[in-house]
Amino acid sequence: MGSYINQHVLNNLFYILVSVFVFYFIYDHGEIFKKQTSYRNTLLAICMGFPIILCMKFPIYIDERCIHDLRQIPFLVGTLYGGGIVGIILFLILLASRTLIYGFEYITAVVYTTMFIIAALVSPTFKALKRSSKLSMSVWLTLFLAVLTTFLAIIITQFQVTDSYIVYFILLPPIGMLFVVYTMETLKEAIIMRSKLVKVEKMEVVSQLAASISHEIRNPLTVVKGFIQLLKTPSLSQDAKDRYIQIALDEINRAEAIINEYLTFAKPASNKVERLMVDDQLRKVIQMLAPMAHMHSVEIVEQLQPAAIVGNIQYFQQCFLNLIKNSVEAMPNGGTLTISSFLHGNHVIITIKDTGVGMTTEQMNRFGEPYFSTKEKGTGLGTMVAVKMIQTMQGTLHIQSEVNKGTTLTITFPKAAN
Ligand code: ADP
Ligand code: MG
Repeated sequence: MGSYINQHVLNNLFYILVSVFVFYFIYDHGEIFKKQTSYRNTLLAICMGFPIILCMKFPIYIDERCIHDLRQIPFLVGTLYGGGIVGIILFLILLASRTLIYGFEYITAVVYTTMFIIAALVSPTFKALKRSSKLSMSVWLTLFLAVLTTFLAIIITQFQVTDSYIVYFILLPPIGMLFVVYTMETLKEAIIMRSKLVKVEKMEVVSQLAASISHEIRNPLTVVKGFIQLLKTPSLSQDAKDRYIQIALDEINRAEAIINEYLTFAKPASNKVERLMVDDQLRKVIQMLAPMAHMHSVEIVEQLQPAAIVGNIQYFQQCFLNLIKNSVEAMPNGGTLTISSFLHGNHVIITIKDTGVGMTTEQMNRFGEPYFSTKEKGTGLGTMVAVKMIQTMQGTLHIQSEVNKGTTLTITFPKAAN
C-alpha cells in the first residue's frame, strides 16, 4: 500500500485542498457570496473546476486505457454542495478539458454522466444532513459510484481492472473525500461560529445597556426614597433636614446624568438611518453645550466644513454630546475647545480638541469601558455609549492625549454617497 501513496497522489490532494481553502477564503471575505446563492455557486464551480483540470493535467499515472487522478473528488464535492447547476458546469469543464488534453473518450462521458446524475439527485438530501452524516454519506457515495461506474465500464468496454485501478479509482477517492468534506465542514463551521459570535456580542451591548440603566437608576432612587422617609421624622433638626435634602438632590442629579448619557436609548422609536450633514448636527450639539462651556469659561472654536454621512441623527447627537461634554469637563479652569469637520478622500473626519487635563496611557486604554470614570460624580457611561454609536455608524475613533496638555479625539466616518 505504501508505494501507492506517492508524490502524484499527494499533489492531487494538494490541488483539491488548496481550492477548498481558496473557496472559503473568498467566501469569508465577500459579503455578496453569503447573501446570494447564485454567486456562491459560481464561486464553488470555479474553485472546484480548477482542481479538476489540474488533477487531470498532472495525474497519478497514465496507461493506454485510462488516466488515473482524483478528479472525481472535486467533481463530487462541487455537485453535492452546489447541486445540479454546479454539477453541470463541472461536468462540462471536466469533459472539455479531458478532450482537449487527452482526446475524447466515450467511456469517460458515461462514467461522469452517471456520477453527475446520482450526485445531483442526492445533493438536496446531502446538504440538509448534519456534519457526521455528511462525512459518512460522502464516503459511501463515492465508493458506491466508483464501483458502479467500474461495472458500467466493464460491461460497455470489457475494461480490465488492475490493482492500481482498484487503489486509485475505488479505494483512494472515498478516503480523499473524507478529508475534503471534513475540511469543508470545519471551515464552514468556523465562519458560521464567528458571525454568530459577532451577533452575540452586539446583543450583549444592548442588554448591558438595558441592565446598566435599570441598575444605575435604581441605586439613586433607593437612596432618595430612604432620605425622604427620614425627612418625615418629626424631631429632625433643620440642619439634618438640609443635609438629607442635599443628599437626595445629589442622587437625583446622578440619575438625571445617567438618563442624559442614554438619551437616545430612552427614545427607542427611531432606528432610522438617513443622510445627515455633520456640520449642521455638530452646530446643534455645540449650541446645547454652549451654556455649560460658558460656565466653565471654555471658548469654543468651530471649523466646520459641510460633509454628509449616513447614520442615525439621534445617535450622532448623543454621541457627540457625550464626547464634547467630556472635553468641556476636562477644562475646569477654562480653555479652548476646537471642533472641526472636513472631508478627506472618501471619509468625513471630525476632531474634538481640548486644552484640558488630558489622559494617561492607562486612561486612554480604558476609554469607552463602562463605569470607568475619574470624576467624583461621573457615570463612566458617556464614552461607552459614544463608542458604541460610532461603531454602529461604521465609524472609528482615535484618541491622542497628553496629561495637562489636552486631548484630541478624531472620529472618522465613511462619506455618504452623493
Ligand atoms: P464620565 O464623564 O461620567 O466620567 P465618561 O464615560 O464620559 O464618564 O468618561 C470616562 C472617563 O474618560 C472620564 O472620567 C475621563 O477620565 C476620561 N475622559 C473622557 N474624555 C476626556 C477628555 N476629553 N479629557 C480627559 N479625560 C477624558
Ligand atoms: Mg462623560
